[in-house]
Amino acid sequence: MPDYSEKLTQYVQDLFAHDDDVLLAVRQALVDRDIPRITVRPDEGKLLQILAAASGARKIVEIGTLAGYSGIWLARALPADGKLYTLEKVPKHADTALEFFEKAGVRGKVDLRLGDALQSLEKLSSEGPFDMVFIDADKDRYPDYFAWALKNTRPGGLIAAHNAFRSGEIVNADNQHPDVETMRAFNQQWANTPNLLSTIIGIGDGTLIGVVQG
Ligand code: SAH
Ligand code: MG
Repeated sequence: MPDYSEKLTQYVQDLFAHDDDVLLAVRQALVDRDIPRITVRPDEGKLLQILAAASGARKIVEIGTLAGYSGIWLARALPADGKLYTLEKVPKHADTALEFFEKAGVRGKVDLRLGDALQSLEKLSSEGPFDMVFIDADKDRYPDYFAWALKNTRPGGLIAAHNAFRSGEIVNADNQHPDVETMRAFNQQWANTPNLLSTIIGIGDGTLIGVVQG
């Protein structure tokens, strides 16, 4: 079969995952403000939104806000009284995100916690349990974030983690870079976790997902 994967991605994005003006403006802000361009893709944003809606999420935790791109997709899946707790350590990223949450009309649903994510999570536990946790920050701390998520997500809730593929390098056996090895170990850990109905959704850079089973 010929490799149509790029065209198929474009096809899906054209049909289902358009960046609206605000989401486009977030992307532009990354360029203008010299912020790393490492957001999820539009089709991955739409996936997160669907996962949030499908799990009936009212309280979501996002670890790694950047400029609010994935956060806007997630917040739009929440009911009016829902809450997205999003964690970011870089003030410039956090300020940009707040600006765009406002522009997207979801500011009232967002509780941004500035600081190191592990410390923020410790404080956040008292607000739980949560319906969904999305992990997308420093990869070497993924195991810690995952452990927190397993403790603080309700049965039936969903845990997700971005960049499971590490730009495809995960299947390149010649690449033993620590970043890639760390993600290999993490994917393995996720696969071996009892009471977690899990897989990797292979769009974009791969998103680990798991439903916490009672
Ligand atoms: N989810 C975003 C992209 C996140 S990029 C999107 O798709 O739009 C990762 C972010 O995590 C960066 O903004 C980085 O500053 C932040 N980050 C990295 N390590 C962190 C830590 N220990 N605590 C909090 N935030 C962290
Ligand atoms: Mg990512």
